[in-house]
Amino acid sequence: MADIAAWVKLVPHYCEIDAHTLGINAETAARCINENTALLLAVHPIVNCCEIDGLVGLAERNNLPLLVDAVESVYETYKGKKIGSFGNAECFSMHASKLINGFEGGYLTTNDPDLAEKLIKMRSMGVLEDGRTIPHGIDATMNDVHAAMALASLLDLPAQVERNRMRYEAYKHMLGSVPGINLLAFDEREQCSYKNIVVRLSAEWPLSRADTLSILHSERVIARPYYSPALHMKRTTYPTIAGDLSLTESLAEQFMLLPCGYFVDDDDTALIVSLLRFIHDHADQITRQLHQK
Ligand SMILES: *Cc1c(COP(=O)(O)O)cnc(C)c1O
Repeated sequence: MADIAAWVKLVPHYCEIDAHTLGINAETAARCINENTALLLAVHPIVNCCEIDGLVGLAERNNLPLLVDAVESVYETYKGKKIGSFGNAECFSMHASKLINGFEGGYLTTNDPDLAEKLIKMRSMGVLEDGRTIPHGIDATMNDVHAAMALASLLDLPAQVERNRMRYEAYKHMLGSVPGINLLAFDEREQCSYKNIVVRLSAEWPLSRADTLSILHSERVIARPYYSPALHMKRTTYPTIAGDLSLTESLAEQFMLLPCGYFVDDDDTALIVSLLRFIHDHADQITRQLHQK
């Protein structure tokens, strides 16, 4: 999202997140709005959604457009309303790692007919049916192979969500007995994809996240600190604005993603959780040996 802002010569201004949703909210975003603000960019977190109705209200009150990165909330609802219908537009990815897999590519959803028409014209290299051209054309139509894969993925979607739910339930059940590791719960009042398995290492967890990841990796468990470090700490070649983001920075150190997806079965989940329990129970010896060399 920051790159998009920079491409159109705007300066991304990062705002603080909400400790509960792990996304921005109307209050944290309002603190960053000033006379230079051109638009609001919101990102839905990896589990559940940010408070999108509040952000829609904020955008309307300030007469600002709102674009949502809803990649991780595809299939989900917010207060019963389908994601994809909020703000001026929402964008989605069909990269192979996402819920709807088209190998690559993505799409936008909008309820604004004028914006839709403009985007449809742009995506065919800006060439209109009568041969006239419009500026900012781009070759952005999806090719048939990607589209076929995406359609196959759509057909499998209900079954995939059910497999995800089973995996999530297995993790939830087994992680319940590991002290210091808290699974981020999906809000089951809403429609959920159950796709990502995110855990928070609490103060009770005896190792740093870096040490925990290093042990998991050496045991070939592909756990990841997703989007770490926080985006505003990444070096960029363009200017950015970031105020006090201490909550973001502290929370960014506490989460990791555990393996999920089609190839992770109940045996894998049991193995991963027993490894975590082993790490917890032998934390002293492990830390000593890790930092010996
Ligand atoms: C994966 C992901 C993207 C990137 O999607 P691309 O199709 O690779 O551009 C953007 N935002 C979020 C939140 C993602 O998880």
